[in-house]
Amino acid sequence: MSSNEIILAKYGEIALKGLNKKTFEDILMKNIRRRLKMKGSYEVSRAQSTIYIEPKDENADMDEAMDVMKKVFGIAALCRAKACEKSFDAISKLAKEYLADELMGVRTFKVTAKRADKAFPMKSPEICAELGYVLLEAFPHLEVDVHNPEVTVTVEIRDTHAYIHGESIKGAGGLPVGCGGKALLLLSGGIDSPVAGYRMARRGVHISAIHYVSPPYTSDRAQMKVEALCQRMTDYCGNIAFFCVPFTEIQEEIKRNCPEEYFTIIMRRIMMRIAQKIAEQDGAAALITGESIGQVASQTMEGITCTDAVCKIPVLRPLIGLDKTEIIESARLIDTFDISTLPYEDCCTVFTPRHPKVRPRPQDVEAAENRFDFTPLIEKAVAETEMKVFRIGGQVNIED
Ligand code: ATP
Ligand code: MG
Repeated sequence: MSSNEIILAKYGEIALKGLNKKTFEDILMKNIRRRLKMKGSYEVSRAQSTIYIEPKDENADMDEAMDVMKKVFGIAALCRAKACEKSFDAISKLAKEYLADELMGVRTFKVTAKRADKAFPMKSPEICAELGYVLLEAFPHLEVDVHNPEVTVTVEIRDTHAYIHGESIKGAGGLPVGCGGKALLLLSGGIDSPVAGYRMARRGVHISAIHYVSPPYTSDRAQMKVEALCQRMTDYCGNIAFFCVPFTEIQEEIKRNCPEEYFTIIMRRIMMRIAQKIAEQDGAAALITGESIGQVASQTMEGITCTDAVCKIPVLRPLIGLDKTEIIESARLIDTFDISTLPYEDCCTVFTPRHPKVRPRPQDVEAAENRFDFTPLIEKAVAETEMKVFRIGGQVNIED
Protein backbone atom coordinates (compact mmCIF):
# COMPACT_ATOMS: atom_id res chain seq x y z
CA MET A 1 0.00 0.00 0.00
CA SER A 2 1.57 3.26 -1.00
CA SER A 3 2.06 5.86 1.67
CA ASN A 4 -0.42 8.47 0.50
CA GLU A 5 -3.36 6.63 2.00
CA ILE A 6 -5.00 8.52 4.86
CA ILE A 7 -7.96 8.14 7.19
CA LEU A 8 -10.84 10.60 7.13
CA ALA A 9 -13.06 10.78 10.18
CA LYS A 10 -16.35 12.69 10.42
CA TYR A 11 -17.70 13.90 13.71
CA GLY A 12 -21.17 13.04 14.84
CA GLU A 13 -22.97 15.04 17.43
CA ILE A 14 -20.12 17.50 17.91
CA ALA A 15 -21.01 19.03 14.58
CA LEU A 16 -24.25 20.20 16.21
CA LYS A 17 -22.58 21.97 19.12
CA GLY A 18 -22.67 25.72 18.75
CA LEU A 19 -20.25 27.84 20.71
CA ASN A 20 -18.69 24.88 22.50
CA LYS A 21 -17.74 23.17 19.27
CA LYS A 22 -14.10 24.12 19.41
CA THR A 23 -13.65 22.75 22.93
CA PHE A 24 -15.22 19.45 21.85
CA GLU A 25 -13.03 19.32 18.75
CA ASP A 26 -9.88 19.99 20.75
CA ILE A 27 -10.66 17.15 23.15
CA LEU A 28 -11.39 14.80 20.26
CA MET A 29 -8.11 15.67 18.53
CA LYS A 30 -6.19 15.10 21.76
CA ASN A 31 -7.87 11.72 22.29
CA ILE A 32 -7.08 10.62 18.74
CA ARG A 33 -3.43 11.70 18.99
CA ARG A 34 -3.00 9.95 22.32
CA ARG A 35 -4.30 6.65 20.96
CA LEU A 36 -2.43 6.75 17.67
CA LYS A 37 0.84 7.55 19.41
CA MET A 38 1.09 3.87 20.40
CA LYS A 39 0.75 2.79 16.77
CA GLY A 40 3.36 4.94 15.04
CA SER A 41 3.80 8.41 13.68
CA TYR A 42 0.65 10.12 12.38
CA GLU A 43 -0.25 13.71 11.66
CA VAL A 44 -3.73 14.61 12.79
CA SER A 45 -5.37 17.75 11.44
CA ARG A 46 -8.89 19.02 10.87
CA ALA A 47 -10.86 21.10 8.43
CA GLN A 48 -14.58 21.52 7.81
CA SER A 49 -15.82 18.95 10.36
CA THR A 50 -13.47 16.30 9.01
CA ILE A 51 -10.37 14.94 10.70
CA TYR A 52 -7.41 13.92 8.55
CA ILE A 53 -5.08 11.24 9.80
CA GLU A 54 -1.93 10.97 7.73
CA PRO A 55 0.76 8.38 8.39
CA LYS A 56 4.19 9.96 8.60
CA ASP A 57 6.08 6.74 8.41
CA GLU A 58 6.25 4.34 5.45
CA ASN A 59 5.51 1.28 7.60
CA ALA A 60 2.40 2.66 9.26
CA ASP A 61 -0.19 -0.09 9.61
CA MET A 62 -3.43 1.46 8.38
CA ASP A 63 -5.54 -1.54 9.45
CA GLU A 64 -4.32 -1.07 12.99
CA ALA A 65 -4.94 2.67 12.85
CA MET A 66 -8.51 2.05 11.63
CA ASP A 67 -9.10 -0.39 14.51
CA VAL A 68 -7.97 2.25 16.97
CA MET A 69 -10.09 4.95 15.36
CA LYS A 70 -13.21 2.77 15.38
CA LYS A 71 -13.19 2.94 19.17
CA VAL A 72 -12.80 6.69 19.56
CA PHE A 73 -16.00 8.29 20.84
CA GLY A 74 -17.08 11.41 18.98
CA ILE A 75 -16.51 9.96 15.51
CA ALA A 76 -19.66 9.10 13.57
CA ALA A 77 -18.09 7.63 10.42
CA LEU A 78 -14.67 6.96 9.00
CA CYS A 79 -13.03 5.74 5.85
CA ARG A 80 -9.68 5.27 4.23
CA ALA A 81 -8.95 7.63 1.38
CA LYS A 82 -6.17 8.31 -1.08
CA ALA A 83 -4.87 11.64 -2.18
CA CYS A 84 -3.78 12.69 -5.67
CA GLU A 85 -2.90 15.81 -7.59
CA LYS A 86 -5.82 18.11 -8.37
CA SER A 87 -6.42 17.19 -12.01
CA PHE A 88 -9.30 15.21 -13.47
CA ASP A 89 -6.88 12.75 -15.12
CA ALA A 90 -5.17 11.98 -11.82
CA ILE A 91 -8.56 11.62 -10.11
CA SER A 92 -9.85 9.18 -12.76
CA LYS A 93 -6.72 7.10 -12.69
CA LEU A 94 -6.69 6.87 -8.90
CA ALA A 95 -10.42 6.07 -8.61
CA LYS A 96 -10.05 3.17 -11.07
CA GLU A 97 -7.05 1.71 -9.27
CA TYR A 98 -7.82 2.41 -5.66
CA LEU A 99 -11.48 1.44 -5.65
CA ALA A 100 -11.16 -1.53 -8.06
CA ASP A 101 -11.71 -4.23 -5.40
CA GLU A 102 -14.62 -2.43 -3.82
CA LEU A 103 -16.32 -1.74 -7.16
CA MET A 104 -15.79 -5.29 -8.43
CA GLY A 105 -17.80 -6.57 -5.47
CA VAL A 106 -20.97 -4.56 -6.12
CA ARG A 107 -23.45 -3.81 -8.93
CA THR A 108 -24.52 -0.25 -8.26
CA PHE A 109 -22.69 2.96 -7.41
CA LYS A 110 -22.86 6.70 -7.61
CA VAL A 111 -20.30 9.50 -7.44
CA THR A 112 -20.52 12.50 -5.15
CA ALA A 113 -18.12 15.42 -5.25
CA LYS A 114 -17.28 18.08 -2.68
CA ARG A 115 -15.42 21.06 -3.97
CA ALA A 116 -13.91 23.01 -1.09
CA ASP A 117 -11.45 24.58 -3.53
CA LYS A 118 -13.69 26.75 -5.71
CA ALA A 119 -10.81 27.44 -8.08
CA PHE A 120 -10.92 23.87 -9.38
CA PRO A 121 -12.03 24.18 -13.02
CA MET A 122 -14.85 21.60 -12.94
CA LYS A 123 -17.99 22.07 -10.85
CA SER A 124 -19.28 19.25 -8.63
CA PRO A 125 -22.06 17.93 -10.95
CA GLU A 126 -19.58 17.86 -13.81
CA ILE A 127 -17.04 15.89 -11.75
CA CYS A 128 -19.77 13.39 -10.80
CA ALA A 129 -20.97 12.94 -14.37
CA GLU A 130 -17.48 12.64 -15.89
CA LEU A 131 -16.07 10.32 -13.23
CA GLY A 132 -19.27 8.22 -13.36
CA TYR A 133 -18.69 7.78 -17.07
CA VAL A 134 -15.02 6.82 -16.56
CA LEU A 135 -15.95 4.19 -13.95
CA LEU A 136 -18.77 2.72 -16.07
CA GLU A 137 -16.28 2.28 -18.89
CA ALA A 138 -13.69 0.66 -16.66
CA PHE A 139 -16.18 -1.60 -14.83
CA PRO A 140 -18.87 -2.50 -17.36
CA HIS A 141 -20.82 -4.64 -14.88
CA LEU A 142 -21.73 -1.52 -12.87
CA GLU A 143 -24.89 0.55 -13.00
CA VAL A 144 -25.51 3.99 -11.58
CA ASP A 145 -28.12 4.18 -8.83
CA VAL A 146 -28.35 7.66 -7.41
CA HIS A 147 -30.94 6.78 -4.75
CA ASN A 148 -29.70 3.59 -3.19
CA PRO A 149 -26.18 2.75 -4.39
CA GLU A 150 -24.15 -0.05 -2.85
CA VAL A 151 -21.05 2.12 -3.03
CA THR A 152 -20.79 5.87 -3.08
CA VAL A 153 -17.53 7.05 -4.59
CA THR A 154 -16.62 10.38 -3.05
CA VAL A 155 -14.23 12.93 -4.52
CA GLU A 156 -13.17 15.81 -2.31
CA ILE A 157 -11.26 18.68 -3.84
CA ARG A 158 -9.41 20.40 -1.03
CA ASP A 159 -6.61 22.95 -0.62
CA THR A 160 -3.59 20.90 -1.58
CA HIS A 161 -4.94 17.63 -2.94
CA ALA A 162 -7.94 15.77 -4.20
CA TYR A 163 -9.09 12.81 -2.06
CA ILE A 164 -10.97 9.73 -3.17
CA HIS A 165 -12.80 7.21 -1.08
CA GLY A 166 -15.49 4.55 -1.18
CA GLU A 167 -17.98 3.54 1.52
CA SER A 168 -17.48 4.77 5.06
CA ILE A 169 -17.90 2.57 8.09
CA LYS A 170 -19.70 3.51 11.29
CA GLY A 171 -17.60 5.05 14.03
CA ALA A 172 -18.07 4.58 17.79
CA GLY A 173 -20.49 7.54 17.96
CA GLY A 174 -21.16 9.51 21.12
CA LEU A 175 -19.07 12.40 22.41
CA PRO A 176 -15.31 12.60 23.04
CA VAL A 177 -14.26 11.21 26.41
CA GLY A 178 -13.42 14.11 28.71
CA CYS A 179 -16.04 16.60 27.57
CA GLY A 180 -18.68 15.26 29.98
CA GLY A 181 -16.88 15.45 33.32
CA LYS A 182 -15.69 12.54 35.41
CA ALA A 183 -17.53 9.74 37.24
CA LEU A 184 -16.56 6.75 39.36
CA LEU A 185 -17.75 3.35 38.11
CA LEU A 186 -18.51 0.60 40.61
CA LEU A 187 -16.87 -2.19 38.67
CA SER A 188 -17.54 -5.81 39.57
CA GLY A 189 -16.41 -8.84 37.61
CA GLY A 190 -19.89 -9.28 36.16
CA ILE A 191 -21.31 -8.56 32.72
CA ASP A 192 -23.19 -5.38 33.54
CA SER A 193 -20.86 -2.86 35.10
CA PRO A 194 -18.29 -2.75 32.23
CA VAL A 195 -21.17 -2.03 29.85
CA ALA A 196 -22.43 0.70 32.18
CA GLY A 197 -18.96 2.30 32.09
CA TYR A 198 -18.81 2.07 28.30
CA ARG A 199 -22.24 3.70 27.98
CA MET A 200 -21.25 6.68 30.10
CA ALA A 201 -17.85 7.05 28.42
CA ARG A 202 -19.72 7.18 25.14
CA ARG A 203 -21.51 10.27 26.46
CA GLY A 204 -18.12 11.90 26.99
CA VAL A 205 -17.70 11.00 30.66
CA HIS A 206 -14.18 10.21 31.84
CA ILE A 207 -14.31 7.04 33.95
CA SER A 208 -12.45 5.94 37.07
CA ALA A 209 -13.25 2.54 38.58
CA ILE A 210 -13.68 1.24 42.12
CA HIS A 211 -13.73 -2.43 43.08
CA TYR A 212 -14.34 -4.07 46.48
CA VAL A 213 -12.46 -7.24 47.40
CA SER A 214 -12.95 -9.55 50.36
CA PRO A 215 -9.95 -11.84 50.67
CA PRO A 216 -9.81 -14.70 51.52
CA TYR A 217 -13.48 -15.09 50.49
CA THR A 218 -12.61 -13.61 47.10
CA SER A 219 -9.42 -14.72 45.34
CA ASP A 220 -6.54 -12.85 43.72
CA ARG A 221 -7.75 -14.25 40.48
CA ALA A 222 -11.14 -12.55 40.89
CA GLN A 223 -9.33 -9.25 41.28
CA MET A 224 -7.13 -9.97 38.25
CA LYS A 225 -10.26 -10.55 36.27
CA VAL A 226 -11.60 -7.13 37.16
CA GLU A 227 -8.24 -5.60 36.30
CA ALA A 228 -8.38 -7.35 32.93
CA LEU A 229 -11.84 -5.85 32.39
CA CYS A 230 -10.53 -2.43 33.30
CA GLN A 231 -7.65 -2.81 30.86
CA ARG A 232 -10.01 -3.91 28.09
CA MET A 233 -12.24 -0.89 28.75
CA THR A 234 -9.36 1.53 28.09
CA ASP A 235 -9.76 0.85 24.34
CA TYR A 236 -12.92 2.93 24.45
CA CYS A 237 -12.70 4.83 27.74
CA GLY A 238 -9.06 5.96 27.72
CA ASN A 239 -6.83 5.71 30.81
CA ILE A 240 -8.67 4.50 33.90
CA ALA A 241 -7.66 5.07 37.53
CA PHE A 242 -8.58 1.89 39.42
CA PHE A 243 -9.28 1.89 43.18
CA CYS A 244 -9.29 -1.42 45.00
CA VAL A 245 -11.02 -1.36 48.42
CA PRO A 246 -10.40 -3.99 51.13
CA PHE A 247 -13.91 -4.97 52.18
CA THR A 248 -13.49 -8.13 54.29
CA GLU A 249 -13.78 -6.64 57.76
CA ILE A 250 -16.87 -4.66 56.87
CA GLN A 251 -18.60 -7.72 55.46
CA GLU A 252 -17.68 -9.78 58.52
CA GLU A 253 -19.11 -7.13 60.84
CA ILE A 254 -22.30 -6.93 58.78
CA LYS A 255 -22.66 -10.68 59.17
CA ARG A 256 -21.89 -10.59 62.87
CA ASN A 257 -24.17 -7.67 63.75
CA CYS A 258 -27.02 -7.20 61.30
CA PRO A 259 -30.12 -9.26 60.47
CA GLU A 260 -29.42 -11.59 57.59
CA GLU A 261 -32.23 -10.39 55.34
CA TYR A 262 -30.55 -6.96 55.21
CA PHE A 263 -26.96 -8.10 54.49
CA THR A 264 -26.96 -7.17 50.82
CA ILE A 265 -28.69 -3.83 51.11
CA ILE A 266 -26.44 -2.72 53.99
CA MET A 267 -23.39 -3.86 52.08
CA ARG A 268 -24.51 -1.81 49.08
CA ARG A 269 -25.08 1.27 51.22
CA ILE A 270 -21.58 0.97 52.64
CA MET A 271 -20.15 0.50 49.16
CA MET A 272 -21.84 3.76 48.18
CA ARG A 273 -20.46 5.62 51.21
CA ILE A 274 -16.93 4.49 50.40
CA ALA A 275 -17.35 5.23 46.70
CA GLN A 276 -18.42 8.79 47.48
CA LYS A 277 -15.32 9.40 49.57
CA ILE A 278 -13.07 8.04 46.82
CA ALA A 279 -15.00 10.06 44.22
CA GLU A 280 -14.37 13.20 46.18
CA GLN A 281 -10.62 12.50 46.37
CA ASP A 282 -10.54 11.65 42.67
CA GLY A 283 -12.56 14.65 41.50
CA ALA A 284 -15.44 12.52 40.21
CA ALA A 285 -18.87 14.15 40.35
CA ALA A 286 -21.10 11.07 40.13
CA LEU A 287 -21.16 7.31 40.64
CA ILE A 288 -22.05 4.74 37.97
CA THR A 289 -23.44 1.25 38.55
CA GLY A 290 -24.55 -1.59 36.31
CA GLU A 291 -27.92 -1.98 37.97
CA SER A 292 -31.07 -2.70 36.01
CA ILE A 293 -34.55 -2.78 37.50
CA GLY A 294 -35.72 -6.14 38.75
CA GLN A 295 -32.51 -8.09 38.06
CA VAL A 296 -31.86 -9.10 41.68
CA ALA A 297 -33.39 -8.37 45.08
CA SER A 298 -31.32 -5.23 45.68
CA GLN A 299 -32.31 -3.81 42.28
CA THR A 300 -36.00 -3.31 43.03
CA MET A 301 -37.36 0.21 43.25
CA GLU A 302 -37.38 -0.09 47.05
CA GLY A 303 -33.83 -1.49 47.11
CA ILE A 304 -32.56 1.38 44.99
CA THR A 305 -34.38 3.87 47.23
CA CYS A 306 -32.55 2.46 50.26
CA THR A 307 -29.19 2.58 48.46
CA ASP A 308 -29.71 6.10 47.16
CA ALA A 309 -30.67 7.33 50.63
CA VAL A 310 -26.96 7.42 51.56
CA CYS A 311 -25.81 9.11 48.31
CA LYS A 312 -25.24 12.85 48.11
CA ILE A 313 -23.94 12.77 44.54
CA PRO A 314 -25.90 11.43 41.56
CA VAL A 315 -25.81 7.68 40.87
CA LEU A 316 -25.93 7.12 37.13
CA ARG A 317 -27.49 3.80 36.10
CA PRO A 318 -27.30 3.70 32.30
CA LEU A 319 -28.59 0.10 32.13
CA ILE A 320 -31.63 0.69 34.31
CA GLY A 321 -34.18 -0.01 31.57
CA LEU A 322 -32.29 -2.63 29.56
CA ASP A 323 -32.92 -6.37 29.33
CA LYS A 324 -30.09 -8.75 30.10
CA THR A 325 -29.99 -9.80 26.42
CA GLU A 326 -29.39 -6.19 25.39
CA ILE A 327 -26.65 -5.80 27.98
CA ILE A 328 -24.99 -9.01 26.76
CA GLU A 329 -25.12 -7.73 23.19
CA SER A 330 -23.22 -4.59 24.25
CA ALA A 331 -20.75 -6.66 26.30
CA ARG A 332 -19.93 -8.71 23.20
CA LEU A 333 -19.55 -5.60 21.10
CA ILE A 334 -17.01 -4.07 23.47
CA ASP A 335 -15.28 -7.41 23.99
CA THR A 336 -15.76 -7.64 27.75
CA PHE A 337 -18.20 -10.56 27.67
CA ASP A 338 -15.53 -13.26 27.51
CA ILE A 339 -13.71 -11.89 30.53
CA SER A 340 -16.93 -11.26 32.49
CA THR A 341 -18.07 -14.85 32.04
CA LEU A 342 -14.89 -16.40 33.43
CA PRO A 343 -15.72 -18.05 36.76
CA TYR A 344 -15.05 -15.86 39.80
CA GLU A 345 -16.33 -14.93 43.23
CA ASP A 346 -17.58 -11.42 43.83
CA CYS A 347 -17.81 -9.94 47.31
CA CYS A 348 -21.56 -9.64 46.65
CA THR A 349 -21.80 -13.42 46.68
CA VAL A 350 -20.05 -13.67 50.06
CA PHE A 351 -22.58 -14.08 52.88
CA THR A 352 -25.54 -13.82 50.53
CA PRO A 353 -28.74 -13.95 52.57
CA ARG A 354 -31.01 -16.93 51.90
CA HIS A 355 -34.05 -14.65 51.82
CA PRO A 356 -33.06 -11.05 51.08
CA LYS A 357 -35.69 -8.37 51.63
CA VAL A 358 -37.11 -7.63 48.20
CA ARG A 359 -38.99 -4.52 49.36
CA PRO A 360 -36.87 -3.10 52.15
CA ARG A 361 -38.10 0.03 53.93
CA PRO A 362 -35.49 2.74 54.56
CA GLN A 363 -36.28 3.03 58.29
CA ASP A 364 -35.90 -0.75 58.79
CA VAL A 365 -32.60 -0.81 56.90
CA GLU A 366 -31.35 2.08 58.98
CA ALA A 367 -32.31 0.37 62.23
CA ALA A 368 -30.59 -2.84 61.09
CA GLU A 369 -27.48 -0.90 60.10
CA ASN A 370 -27.34 1.08 63.35
CA ARG A 371 -26.67 -2.05 65.35
CA PHE A 372 -23.01 -1.45 64.62
CA ASP A 373 -20.96 1.71 64.07
CA PHE A 374 -19.39 1.17 60.65
CA THR A 375 -17.84 4.66 60.43
CA PRO A 376 -14.34 3.72 61.68
CA LEU A 377 -14.22 0.71 59.35
CA ILE A 378 -15.33 2.83 56.42
CA GLU A 379 -12.55 5.34 57.18
CA LYS A 380 -10.06 2.49 57.43
CA ALA A 381 -11.16 0.91 54.14
CA VAL A 382 -10.80 4.26 52.37
CA ALA A 383 -7.35 4.80 53.90
CA GLU A 384 -6.23 1.32 52.80
CA THR A 385 -7.60 1.60 49.27
CA GLU A 386 -4.95 1.00 46.62
CA MET A 387 -4.88 2.85 43.34
CA LYS A 388 -3.33 1.98 40.01
CA VAL A 389 -3.81 3.31 36.52
CA PHE A 390 -4.71 1.23 33.48
CA ARG A 391 -3.49 2.82 30.31
CA ILE A 392 -4.43 2.64 26.65
CA GLY A 393 -2.31 -0.05 25.03
CA GLY A 394 -1.39 -1.78 28.32
CA GLN A 395 -1.83 -5.45 29.10
CA VAL A 396 -3.19 -7.62 31.92
CA ASN A 397 -2.92 -11.40 31.77
CA ILE A 398 -5.10 -13.67 33.82
CA GLU A 399 -3.27 -16.92 34.49
CA ASP A 400 -5.34 -20.07 34.85
P1 ATP B 1 -22.62 -6.88 37.43
O1 ATP B 1 -22.87 -7.77 36.26
O2 ATP B 1 -22.10 -5.53 37.01
O3 ATP B 1 -21.80 -7.54 38.48
P2 ATP B 1 -25.00 -7.64 38.78
O4 ATP B 1 -26.20 -7.79 37.96
O5 ATP B 1 -24.24 -8.85 39.19
O6 ATP B 1 -24.05 -6.59 38.06
P3 ATP B 1 -25.02 -6.81 41.57
O7 ATP B 1 -24.07 -7.88 41.89
O8 ATP B 1 -26.24 -6.62 42.40
O9 ATP B 1 -25.53 -6.86 40.06
O10 ATP B 1 -24.27 -5.45 41.55
C1 ATP B 1 -24.90 -4.30 41.12
C2 ATP B 1 -23.85 -3.25 40.81
O11 ATP B 1 -23.06 -3.00 41.96
C3 ATP B 1 -22.86 -3.72 39.76
O12 ATP B 1 -23.31 -3.49 38.46
C4 ATP B 1 -21.66 -2.87 40.10
O13 ATP B 1 -21.83 -1.57 39.59
C5 ATP B 1 -21.73 -2.80 41.62
N1 ATP B 1 -20.88 -3.86 42.24
C6 ATP B 1 -21.25 -5.09 42.63
N2 ATP B 1 -20.21 -5.78 43.17
C7 ATP B 1 -19.16 -4.95 43.14
C8 ATP B 1 -17.77 -5.04 43.54
N3 ATP B 1 -17.27 -6.13 44.11
N4 ATP B 1 -16.98 -3.97 43.36
C9 ATP B 1 -17.47 -2.85 42.78
N5 ATP B 1 -18.74 -2.70 42.38
C10 ATP B 1 -19.59 -3.73 42.55
MG1 MG C 1 -22.33 -8.85 40.06
